[in-house]
Amino acid sequence: MLERFMHLHERGLNATDTAKDNDPALFCRVCRTIRIDARDFTIKIAEPRPGTSPIATLDEKVTLIERKLVDLIGEDRIRKNLFVGRVINDRGKELENWMALNGGLQEILVRGTREYGYRTCDGCDRIFYSSQGGRYIFPPPETNGRIYLTNLGGLLLEESSIDRASIPKSRWLGVEVLKADPNPRDGFGNLEAQVASGALPRAFPERFPSRWELAPRVED
Ligand SMILES: [Zn+2]
Repeated sequence: MLERFMHLHERGLNATDTAKDNDPALFCRVCRTIRIDARDFTIKIAEPRPGTSPIATLDEKVTLIERKLVDLIGEDRIRKNLFVGRVINDRGKELENWMALNGGLQEILVRGTREYGYRTCDGCDRIFYSSQGGRYIFPPPETNGRIYLTNLGGLLLEESSIDRASIPKSRWLGVEVLKADPNPRDGFGNLEAQVASGALPRAFPERFPSRWELAPRVED
């Protein structure tokens, strides 16, 4: 039987911006996403509080989750599986009701059936993946209570480990079931392992636009 996973993610455009005066050492110098080894970190946002959903995704691959979702999933379980940080707002006040998450090396790619492509970062080896069509994950992630962040900034956990009816309702919170597909339709196989071993090129197609090419950041 295929494992079924629950994916909780922010819907629509990322509504929360990162402040300009965060510690630059927190981010990869090439792709500007959070370093995969950043733990016990502090992230400052550019607003009084995150936007509209109990999950807010920052462009830097940091996911902010609200206390009601932390309590539903279990704070211990979150701390055991993900790197956790504090959230500071535009006035320098710590938002006690929010937790910042870094998926570290365990990020799961949500893959698709059409118009797929990927690129790896020369600085941190993070894989940026984008696709259209049906969504699935591959290879099947470990279960046993594990929690992951996805490349879409969502939380991924076993469907059976969360009570769907108790998930807070918000039109900006996407709740979807994803299956681990044994035959990835994008044809990449185990992308992470093959890119790491050099068996696949660092980008496909060669001109696949990376996030930082689509939205270049102005240097201060
Ligand atoms: Zn990078």
